[in-house]
Amino acid sequence: MENIRVHRPPTPRRPPTRRPPARRSPRRDSGKPPRPIPKVASDTFRRARRRRLVARRVACVLALCLVVALFSFGTLTHGASSSGRGHVRSVSPVEAAALPSPPGPPPPNMGQVWVAAVARDPSPDLATGGVGTSGIRIALTFDDGPDPRTTPLILDTLKERGVEATFFVVGRQVAENPALLRRIVAEGHAVGNHTYDHADMSGLSAGQMRDELRSTQEAVDDALGHHHPMALMRPPYGNPYLEGSAALPQFREVVRGQRLFPVAWTVDPGDYLLGDDADGVVRAVARADAAGREGESDEVVLLHDNQGQTAEALPKIVDYYEGSGRRFAGVDDLLADKYLEP
Ligand SMILES: [Zn+2]
Repeated sequence: MENIRVHRPPTPRRPPTRRPPARRSPRRDSGKPPRPIPKVASDTFRRARRRRLVARRVACVLALCLVVALFSFGTLTHGASSSGRGHVRSVSPVEAAALPSPPGPPPPNMGQVWVAAVARDPSPDLATGGVGTSGIRIALTFDDGPDPRTTPLILDTLKERGVEATFFVVGRQVAENPALLRRIVAEGHAVGNHTYDHADMSGLSAGQMRDELRSTQEAVDDALGHHHPMALMRPPYGNPYLEGSAALPQFREVVRGQRLFPVAWTVDPGDYLLGDDADGVVRAVARADAAGREGESDEVVLLHDNQGQTAEALPKIVDYYEGSGRRFAGVDDLLADKYLEP
């Protein structure tokens, strides 16, 4: 077969065009043309890049969450400290610094007295039958306050004369006058529970009795800004000791459950019946004291710190007792002697 040669004119050569040098990365500066990325390698690269993007997004979201969490925590802790329980007054750092520091166990330690008392007496109390302990001491007690009109005057006199007293406070009055309660405690006087509503306990169920006592304790704690357990209580009207004795067993059970010593009195001058007659109160104190004083007996004197005539008479009442050679003591001292001494 013959070779047929077809003449083809030579292909004109195009002059070489000067193309701008391709940009090459230094790494690829091998002189070889870039190899196309194989499909598998391209997918791996894309996946890696996607993973990095996802990782960055997750990190951003986590950082945002952390900021939100820190902010929320700060808001929550601030909110909790400023609101607290609905009825608890918030105490700012300045106010807290002004509050009396929680007192240590007062002498005598009423916890110890309580343990000793219940070991020998199923219903420990003081003067509930009008009989006190033996001695020559006078325990002044003030009921029904604190009252902003008269309690400050009484506290002034006690402070001037260096006399320690016991205040049987009404929970409602404490809630209305918390600063006065703080002053009573800060000046070293004992505080006893006189129920929240000045309730006659002989007409209450056991649950109602407990409510009256507990809410008063809460009012005292709220006023002070710390727990200040009261060891003493005085039932309003002296009940159920004086009347309504049917409620007495139940009452005794309740106060024992609350670790409270019921405290009555041995001297009742009836100060609240004497209007504006301050001198009449002094005479009534002397009369009641003389009538009840047979032998050497400590006396528990019933007064009311919401009575103007009592506040006015108090300096002379202190004069009277000091003039008779006796000294003042707290109800807790008399209870300690009754139950701690062999
Ligand atoms: Zn009372």
